[in-house]
Amino acid sequence: MDMGIRGKTALVCASSKGLGRACAFSLAREGANLVITARGKEALEQTAAEISAATGVKVTAVASDIATEAGRAAILAVCPQPDILVNNAGGPPPGDFRNWTRDTWIAALDMNMIAPIEMIRATVDHMIARKFGRIVNITSSTVKAPIEILGLSNGARSGLTGFVAGIARKTVAHNVTINNLLPGPFDTDRLRSNFAVIAKQRGISVEQARLERMKQNPAGRLGDPAEFGDACAYLCSAQAGFVTGQNFLIDGGGYPGTF
Ligand code: NAP
Repeated sequence: MDMGIRGKTALVCASSKGLGRACAFSLAREGANLVITARGKEALEQTAAEISAATGVKVTAVASDIATEAGRAAILAVCPQPDILVNNAGGPPPGDFRNWTRDTWIAALDMNMIAPIEMIRATVDHMIARKFGRIVNITSSTVKAPIEILGLSNGARSGLTGFVAGIARKTVAHNVTINNLLPGPFDTDRLRSNFAVIAKQRGISVEQARLERMKQNPAGRLGDPAEFGDACAYLCSAQAGFVTGQNFLIDGGGYPGTF
C-alpha cells in the first residue's frame, strides 16, 4: 500500500533510539523526509546516517532537549512547518508518590504533557492551512491500565490524552488528525535498563528478568519497535484521514479489558 506521504516532512521528536527511531525509520521508508531529534548528538547523527543510507530520504538531525523551551525553539527554527509530527520524549522515573514534590511533578509535566502540547500549538495551524497534517503522540499503556510506581507517567500522559481528545475533533475537519499510540512492553534501551534494575533488586540475572516479563505478556514476547513504527506510519498516512482522537494500544494483548 502506498501511504501517500512521499516528499512530506516528518518531524519525529526523541528519535535517536527506541520507539521514536522506529517511527522515523518507517516514515522514511514511506518516502517522508525527516527531522529527527534527541539530546545526545552522537547517537542522533548515527541514526540519521543509517536512516538516510537505508531509505534515501533527507534526514536532518537537531540535538536538543524537547522538555525545554529553548530546545523546542531550536527544533522549530529548523522545521517550523512539518506535515507530520511525532511527539515523544523519555519517560519519568518510577517511585513512591509520597516522595514527589511539586518540582518532581513539574518536570514530568514538562516532559510528557507540556512539550507535546507546545509542539502541537506551534505546528497545527500551518497544517490546517495546508489541509494536511498528521500528529501522533507516543504515550503509554499506563494511560489505560495504570502502574502504581509509574504515577508520574500515569498522570502527565493522561493530561495530554485529555487535551488531545478535545482538539482532535476540531482539526479533523481540515484533514489534520491527532492520535495517540500506547506502547506496552517494547524491546528498547529503556525496557532493558528496567530489567537490569529488577535483576539487581531481586538477585536474578538480567536474562531471567527479561524472560519473566516476556511470559507475563499474552504474546509471550516483547514488542519489536519496528511493529510500533509501522503502526505510526499508518496513522500518518493519507489513508488515515478519518481516524482522529484515538488511543491505540500496541501491547501484545497485555491490557485485559474488552474495550
Ligand atoms: P529509549 O529507547 O530510551 O529512547 C528514548 C529516546 O528519546 C532516545 O532517542 C533519547 O535520546 C530520546 N530522549 C529522551 N529524553 C529526551 C529529551 N528530553 N529530549 C529529546 N530527546 C529525548 O525509550 P523508548 O523505550 O523508545 O521509549 C519512548 C517513550 O515511550 C518513553 O516516553 C517511554 O516512557 C514510553 N514507553 C516505552 C515503553 C517500552 O516498553 N519501551 C512502554 C511504555 C511507554 P537522548 O537520551 O540522547 O535524548
